[in-house]
Amino acid sequence: MKLDLKIQPLSTWLQPVNPNKPIVISGPCSAETEDQLISTAHLLAKTGKITALRAGIWKPRTRPGEFEGIGSIGLQWLKRAKEETGLPTAVEVANAKHVEEALAAGVDILWVGARSTVNPFTVQEIADALKGVDIPVMVKNPVNPDLSLWVGALERINNAGITKLAAIHRGFSSFEKSAFRNEPMWEMAIQLKTLCPELPIINDPSHICGNRELIPYISQKALDMDMQGLMIESHIDPSVAWTDAKQQVTPSALSELINHLTLRHTEPQSRELVDQLAELRKQIDKLDEQIIQKIAERMKIAEKIGEHKRDNDVTILQVSRWDEIMHKRTSLARALKLDTNFTAKFLELLHAESIRKQTEIMNEKPVSEVK
Ligand code: PEP
Ligand code: MN
Repeated sequence: MKLDLKIQPLSTWLQPVNPNKPIVISGPCSAETEDQLISTAHLLAKTGKITALRAGIWKPRTRPGEFEGIGSIGLQWLKRAKEETGLPTAVEVANAKHVEEALAAGVDILWVGARSTVNPFTVQEIADALKGVDIPVMVKNPVNPDLSLWVGALERINNAGITKLAAIHRGFSSFEKSAFRNEPMWEMAIQLKTLCPELPIINDPSHICGNRELIPYISQKALDMDMQGLMIESHIDPSVAWTDAKQQVTPSALSELINHLTLRHTEPQSRELVDQLAELRKQIDKLDEQIIQKIAERMKIAEKIGEHKRDNDVTILQVSRWDEIMHKRTSLARALKLDTNFTAKFLELLHAESIRKQTEIMNEKPVSEVK
């Protein structure tokens, strides 16, 4: 799968306030009252570190009867916030009516939420409403870890003529118990970046973490993964927020958080550093080649074992032998300061491939029987 999107560089529509700090979009999960939104916006603007103001007006809620967003009136509050602070505004849209109302109210940036990205009908409806309009659109990853849905939504919006396009990485739901509200599954964002290197990806640590304590860690990690910006929820008084109270931060806590973030360079800054890195990469290349050759040698021996087992009617899998391998190798790895979990996963992959090869061999007839 190759992704052929026609997109404009992020710098044409979103820029950091300070070139040494990341782009940060911030504001409340939900616009609740005019006062809450305006006062939060003023405090954010005062930090001098925020690129755009976000606020949810229409809120997708899991259960009916919960607060479902303040609705269209919130657009007027956003307009006022923009007039008073100069911050461009961003809202989530989930249908054609939202798009029309947001455009009419002069909202600067739209985003498609995670619950909409999962539904191609919804995304197409939003895309159709955007035809002929020049506005930046950001597409959150779908709730479930399905890269094609994310890609499909980006394509639909792009096909409607939207070229100021970005993806938002907000994590994925998972059955596994974890410290995160939504598992980051960084590999999904990396795969998207590989398919389309020019597509900007903004990280949303608030919805990944689900609690404010983890936000600095995920924010820094996102920057280290070369993501182009952050969307972080903030509230004048998070403890009384109507939605996502645990994950919102005050504007001053956000300012502090941004102070502690380090924006690293994608490439080394001097000739000497470039040469040092090139030398280390040469060593890695050599080792990688050796590892691949060794794996190939190991597979050849596994094949021989497979033939031996087949010819002597022995089962492919011998649990005790496998336990012994795992035990010996992981203790060696531990002694060499390798992560045991990583080593176990690596060995499991190797073993699965050996078993697959041996199963193929088991199903072949011995050469002596082929006439
Ligand atoms: C939000 O940004 O407030 C929101 C509802 O996020 P998501 O679509 O990622 O759940
Ligand atoms: Mn939220």
